[in-house]
Amino acid sequence: MVADKNVAYAGGWYPHHNDQDLEEIKAAGCTSINMTLNESDWYVFRAARERIVEKARELGLKVYLNWHGFGAFASYIQSTRYLLENPAAAQYFSNGVRSTEAMACPNNPEFAAWMEERVREITPHFAPDGVFWDEPHFSSDSNFPNVWACRCASCQEGFSRRFKRAMPTQLDADVRQFRQDSLLIFLTRLLRASKEVGGGENVLCLMPLDESGNHPASGPGWYGVDDWEPFVAVPEVDVFSTDPYWIHRHGGDWEYFEHNTRKAIELAHKYDKPCQIWVQSIWIPPKREPDVKRTILTAAEMGADMLAVWSFLGEPGGTLYDWGGDPALAWQNVVEAYQEL
Ligand SMILES: [Zn+2]
Repeated sequence: MVADKNVAYAGGWYPHHNDQDLEEIKAAGCTSINMTLNESDWYVFRAARERIVEKARELGLKVYLNWHGFGAFASYIQSTRYLLENPAAAQYFSNGVRSTEAMACPNNPEFAAWMEERVREITPHFAPDGVFWDEPHFSSDSNFPNVWACRCASCQEGFSRRFKRAMPTQLDADVRQFRQDSLLIFLTRLLRASKEVGGGENVLCLMPLDESGNHPASGPGWYGVDDWEPFVAVPEVDVFSTDPYWIHRHGGDWEYFEHNTRKAIELAHKYDKPCQIWVQSIWIPPKREPDVKRTILTAAEMGADMLAVWSFLGEPGGTLYDWGGDPALAWQNVVEAYQEL
C-alpha cells in the first residue's frame, strides 16, 4: 500500500501560476509536494514560497521542504550565494582541483554552523509536514576512485586529528571511513536541529550505488557513502529514500533500479521505517516515456511505502533535463501510474 505519492515542485515566482500548478498536482493524484528551496527562493522570492505552502494546505497536500541547493547543500544546479561570500568553504578534489559542483564542504565548521542556523531559522517559518534531505554528498568525479573529494583544509585537519597521519591522496580504507562518517555527523546535526524546530518527518535520500562492479565511478563510495545502513539507523531519520534513476543519467539499467530499490526497502523495514522510492520523469530519451509508468508501478509492487517523481510536468523548461523525450508524455505516464495506485 503506497501511503504517499509525491512530486518535486520547483515552483515559480508568480503566485497565481503556482496556484494553478498545485491544483493540477492535486488532480493528478499526488498527495504531497517536495518544495525545493534554494537561497534565491528564500532571500528574494520568499512570498511566492509562502503562498505555495498556503495553497498546498488548502488543497490537502502535504508539504516536504527540500533544501535543494541551499548553501550548495546537495545540488549544484540551483543558485547559491553562500559560496560566493565564502569561497574557502568549497569542496576540493584529491588532486587539488576545486569542485565544479561548487558545493560547500560539510567538514567546514563555519558552513556546518551556518547551515544549522538556517535550518533553525527557516524551518519553523514554513512548518512543513516533513523535510527532505536531498542527496547529501561529496563531489564525484568520473575518475573515481582515483580522484575523490573532499581534501580541503578542514578535511585534512579533521582526518589527521582522527587518524594521526596526513590525509593521503589515495582513497584508502581510512579515507573512505572518514568521508562516510563526515556526512553522517553533518546530517545527524541538521536532522536533530530540524526536529527541534518543528520540521516534522525527516526523509533522507541517499543516492544509489552501482554494486555490479561494472561502473566503478558510481560504485560504493562514489559520493562519500559506502554503506547506507548507518544512515538508516540514525534515530532522527524517519523515512529512508533513494533515487535509482535507470532510464538515463545515472547510467544504470533495470537491474540497477531493482537492486537499489529492493535493498532500500529491506533496509528501511529492518529499522521499521517507511521507504520512499524516486522515479525520474526528466532525462528521458525519445520513446522511453512508458518506462516512467512501468518504474512507478514496479516500485509499488516491490513494496515502496512512498513514491516520488522528479519532477512536475517532466520539467519542460529544464535544458539540463532534456534528453530528447517528451516531458508531457512522461508526465502523463506519471499521472496514469499515480491514478492506478
Ligand atoms: Zn572538505
